[in-house]
Amino acid sequence: MKYNFPKVDLHLHLDGSFRPETVWELVQEQGVESPADTLEGYKEFIKKCVWSGSVNEYLKAFDAPLLVMQDKESLARVTRELIEDIAAQGLAYAEIRFAPQLHTQKGMSQEDAIEAVLKGRKQALEKCPDIKIGIICCMMSIGPETANWDANMKTAQIVHKYLDKGVVAIDLAGAEGFVPLSNFAPLFKVARESGVPITCHAGDSQDWQTVKDAIEMGASRIGHGHHIYENPELCRYAVEHEIALEICPTSNVQCQTRRTYGLHPAWNLYSIGIPVTINTDNMTMSEITLEDEYDHCLNEMGFEYEDLILMNINSIKYSFMKEKDKKEIIARLEKCLDEVTE
Ligand SMILES: [Zn+2]
Repeated sequence: MKYNFPKVDLHLHLDGSFRPETVWELVQEQGVESPADTLEGYKEFIKKCVWSGSVNEYLKAFDAPLLVMQDKESLARVTRELIEDIAAQGLAYAEIRFAPQLHTQKGMSQEDAIEAVLKGRKQALEKCPDIKIGIICCMMSIGPETANWDANMKTAQIVHKYLDKGVVAIDLAGAEGFVPLSNFAPLFKVARESGVPITCHAGDSQDWQTVKDAIEMGASRIGHGHHIYENPELCRYAVEHEIALEICPTSNVQCQTRRTYGLHPAWNLYSIGIPVTINTDNMTMSEITLEDEYDHCLNEMGFEYEDLILMNINSIKYSFMKEKDKKEIIARLEKCLDEVTE
């Protein structure tokens, strides 16, 4: 492995990080509609969507994996395989997110979907005891907040039941900008009042106002959030209140929310003291690993090797892991830091 320190991914979508071979196999097995005739064709289709430069085209790549993850077994399998894959890549901890409501097309309830993911997690952890995994349940933004209010409310209401079973937080994912993000506030309030930690996609395709909204709704971390850079006052607030940013460089460039890696403000945000973390977003869709993201950080974005270790310390510190579990990984990272700065 190129980067020999415990690696952490806090922003990783299950339905964008599957094994293409598995989804292809399930497409054949289940006889669902497919965008291609062969596995190779399917991989090409994903590439076309992902590099279209449009978030909406990008999201089309998620259709097939979602179509085949509508039963407990498939959902558990894809979860298990993802954890095995990232354990093999040397990750020490990851928070994997998925939206329970997107898996209810064939009769599963949101609870069933969460339990299937937790089952896959458990199976993988038995095989890979060196990695720790938290699950984040996403609500979805698919239009005005009224479009799927009940499904989102359901997620907000049930997540707390799984907090001791592997679920660690709630999120709002999907497309940004149909309505002000603050329209979703009552949903977050329900989750917050039942003790569920919050992260929220914001400030990616939309401007810094959405980051402000997310913070006001109780988010302690922001998914992407890089457009905070255009508001120095809000940046100062994020420094003071330790609002961590889940930066996903390749996803941002693919969706053209930042034009190039070199023009991404991640280093600037890091250098002023905002807790920046580096993540993959969608490993399969983006055809990347966390180590590929680190290459971009070093070669194009202005980071140094030790910054990568420091950002992983951020990732653990601001993760939704239990406090007592954080210490051991931070100690390992600090040891790696000592070795490179000696
Ligand atoms: Zn995301």
